[in-house]
Amino acid sequence: MNVKRRTFLKGAAVTGALIGLGSTQTEFPFQGLMKAQGSGESKKAVFQNACPRNCYDTCSMLTTVEDGVIQFVEGNPQNTYTNGTVCVKGNVYPRTVYSPDRIKYPMRQKGRGTGNWERISWDEAYTEIAENILKIKKEYGSTLPICLNKYSGNFEIMHYGIEGTMSSLGYTSRATGTPCWPAGIDAQTFDFGTIVNSDPEQMAKSKYIILWGVNPAWTGVHSMNFIEQAKANGAKVVVIDPILTNTAGKAHEFIQIKSSTDGALALGMAKYILDNELYDGQWLANNSIGYKEFFGYVKNNITLEWAAEKTGVRVEVIETLAREYATTKPANIWIGYGMQRHTNGGQNVRAIDALAAITGNVGLEGGGANYAQLDSWGFNYHAMVHPAPEGSEGEADRAVNMNNFAADVLAAQDPPIKMLWIAGRNPVQQDPETTLIKKAFREMDFVVTVDLYMNKTVELSDIVLPATTPFETPGVNVSYWHYWMTLNERAIKPLHETKSDVEIAMGLSAKMNELESGSCTYPTSGDLEEWVGKEFNDTILEQFGLEKWEDLKNGPAKMKNKEVAWKDGDFRTPSKKYELYSEEAEKFGHHPLPVYVEEMKSTEEFPYRCITPHWKLSIHSQFQDLDWMEAISDKPFVEMHPDLAKRNNINEGDLVKVYNEIGYVTVQAKLTKTVQVEEVVMYETWYKNLNYNVNYTVKAIPADMGKKATGMPGIAFHDNFVNIEKV
Ligand code: SF4
Repeated sequence: MNVKRRTFLKGAAVTGALIGLGSTQTEFPFQGLMKAQGSGESKKAVFQNACPRNCYDTCSMLTTVEDGVIQFVEGNPQNTYTNGTVCVKGNVYPRTVYSPDRIKYPMRQKGRGTGNWERISWDEAYTEIAENILKIKKEYGSTLPICLNKYSGNFEIMHYGIEGTMSSLGYTSRATGTPCWPAGIDAQTFDFGTIVNSDPEQMAKSKYIILWGVNPAWTGVHSMNFIEQAKANGAKVVVIDPILTNTAGKAHEFIQIKSSTDGALALGMAKYILDNELYDGQWLANNSIGYKEFFGYVKNNITLEWAAEKTGVRVEVIETLAREYATTKPANIWIGYGMQRHTNGGQNVRAIDALAAITGNVGLEGGGANYAQLDSWGFNYHAMVHPAPEGSEGEADRAVNMNNFAADVLAAQDPPIKMLWIAGRNPVQQDPETTLIKKAFREMDFVVTVDLYMNKTVELSDIVLPATTPFETPGVNVSYWHYWMTLNERAIKPLHETKSDVEIAMGLSAKMNELESGSCTYPTSGDLEEWVGKEFNDTILEQFGLEKWEDLKNGPAKMKNKEVAWKDGDFRTPSKKYELYSEEAEKFGHHPLPVYVEEMKSTEEFPYRCITPHWKLSIHSQFQDLDWMEAISDKPFVEMHPDLAKRNNINEGDLVKVYNEIGYVTVQAKLTKTVQVEEVVMYETWYKNLNYNVNYTVKAIPADMGKKATGMPGIAFHDNFVNIEKV
């Protein structure tokens, strides 16, 4: 598959305080470093920063710097979503910056995976990388054997300079797609035309909130404020989840559903709404197409008994939920990302969207079926888009499935993939099928990784380049959930020899052109603040009510007129209506209606579903490996129901092997009734000194949707089945 630059751009864009830590009272254990990095002036200043991690909240932060050293980070109260606070991960940012584990200078590994690293200069690093690129180009006639794998480690806009590096070398291979959320994106694209959620601050106005497969108490803490406000105003909050989460603990009602059967519950609710004429016929007639076909399907195929059997939720509970949801307006559903990581995940999201449509909750203040948004991302992507050098072989970049990366890399032919460039990702830790991923890395001629810390991916690289943190380089951030934009200022000088992606791109370009004139189109110099300015256009300035981008220096700005998604009824589907019947879905091989698609089942050999959600102290493989985080949570575990443990003769704290046909993990058993008897839970994170990686057992099974919007289907992470035994 070829990927045009524009398509790739689209895919890539879719791309409480911790007690005693990170507060103003913190004594940092790096006094020597503070002196070394101090500017000599005892000036105190506060800078604006933004958390660029793959997190709903994308916090606006204020960083207090004294003597050139970060003292603490706090939330910026000007942003009414962040509202003056950051989460525990934000609070430990000073440790992220000053961690003794940071990669300080470019290094070369003598023998991939040996750990035999040597310090080299930037010039040596650029030379070695440039020589390898030119060698590949000479041998294969193009730069297609070079493959970029970059994603969500840093969503700041200037970070797209890494894609710019690749573009400016020629046509290259690109890890395409997104592992996190594409099935849901496609589902909403078929229904609404694209993803647009209401301003999450609007949740305070809801009268009924369903948190469906989402755990904001861990993964979107600031949204909890608005949920709590809604509760104080009399709203009912229901959590639907396979796991009794911290969020469920704060709800009025928790409905524990069998994983991957969310569509059956939604369709059961639709059946009750239909039978009891609780739907909004006028809204449907004015704003949708296909509702008669959908009602026909529900009438002829769905019963509440079937839904109860599928989901494990009693008929009376489904009835009450459906009645309350349909008769209490405005009613808001927040659809989480975990619930679409199934082979029927996209269809399940479509069925949930349908509930909002048939009850007339779409376009309603405090209502909606809210998943995500990208409407605030209309930058120029100047750092990202650069032309291929004149005479470059080919017409387009080559797409490699990010969600089956190892297999696709190993299978690539004409030309094969020979070099990897990894940035903002840790595929050896985060991608499914770790053993195969390692094989792919080992078979490369040359691997370059840009990162903050040594990690499992860096360990399998030839060259590592030290990256800056958000505090060391300017940029600008927006969120895929709320509607705020925050300028990210350079608060301190880059520590050690670290560089940003744009600086690396410029340095490499200079070396490429020195070795072979005209071989790279990336600019070789430029002021980074000016680069930030080049990301803005009139449309985005107007959307955010800015006269000029520098106005952001006064504080974050919020996008105008985006409070209520689809209030204007201006759906972006082919029919310009909400499409319960989607011909576009049919074109992509799906049923045109939000029908139920059978969930994946366990086997006799591997009888337990293994769910691998986010851990509260990390975002993927970021944060948990900090020594301060490990001090709170020092070892991984598998959560299992006491009945399951008893069946397998396992006691609390026992070492347990969790395994299937592709690998195993050995962890401690934690017995808890928060999980269902036939399911186990392990968290996807990593610990610096442990070989813990849930992906040894996670297969690269494609989700049903994702191809339309992101170029590749998602991953059915939670359709992973294992067995367990006491070690
Ligand atoms: S991880 Fe999320 S909640 Fe925490 S500081 Fe970053 S953006 Fe804010």
